[in-house]
Amino acid sequence: MSILTIDGVWKNFRGHSVLRGIDLEVHPHEVVSLIGASGSGKSTLLRCVNLLETVDDGTIRLDGEDITDPRVNVDDVRKRLGIAFQAFNLFPHMTVLDNITLAPRRVHKVAKKQAEEQAHDLLVRFGLADKARAYPDQLSGGQQQRVAIIRALATQPRLMLLDEVTSALDPELVVEVLEIIRELKESGMTMILTTHEMGFCREISDTVCFLDGGVLLEKGPAEKIFTEPEHARTREFLRSVL
Ligand code: ADP
Ligand code: MG
Repeated sequence: MSILTIDGVWKNFRGHSVLRGIDLEVHPHEVVSLIGASGSGKSTLLRCVNLLETVDDGTIRLDGEDITDPRVNVDDVRKRLGIAFQAFNLFPHMTVLDNITLAPRRVHKVAKKQAEEQAHDLLVRFGLADKARAYPDQLSGGQQQRVAIIRALATQPRLMLLDEVTSALDPELVVEVLEIIRELKESGMTMILTTHEMGFCREISDTVCFLDGGVLLEKGPAEKIFTEPEHARTREFLRSVL
């Protein structure tokens, strides 16, 4: 059974359709990348999954449950998702440890000691154990983004949504964030990500989706999309970014 099933999703902003009948299935342990020009609808699709946007037509199912049903418990859905964006959005007045343990403690009602132990394990796993007591402004951009991803992991999500997590970083800091995502894939995490790092996208993705003006124009195994795309628009896009 798939973790996420997106079925005929449309999204309009002021009469303009920015998602046009998107169909997509994400299976356990699968890494799906969304690629496409700026404005093609990648972030909007992730925001619909996270219920930051409501869809105008179609359905999205998470573990079989229709999360586009207006009666759905939004908090309960978000509990099952881990999200990281381009902007790190760490709480500046809280230490790394407190940033990471906030959601497990407040939302998932995990005891403080247990939440801190789990956070510590994650910090060790991702090489940031010595930063537990640091504040975000004492960290590099790459370290902040790694903490933001760890924070998303702390609630043991079913599915991670990563939207351009390396785009705000200096090139030399991108590598350490990509390394985390690689490790997540190896650990079997199911992910949907958007990225401008095409080499990385090709390496890490099981499935690549090319969005063009809100249409999911082409979808397939990464190797296929990168070496023999079917659509001229996909070839054109890849030529422009590779
Ligand atoms: P991408 O992430 O692929 O760059 P987006 O999903 O951010 O694309 O945007 C898709 C389209 O939707 C763009 O034309 C953008 O201007 C528009 N859009 C996104 N969010 C809003 C919003 N809140 N209100 C109006 N238009 C929006
Ligand atoms: Mg975007």
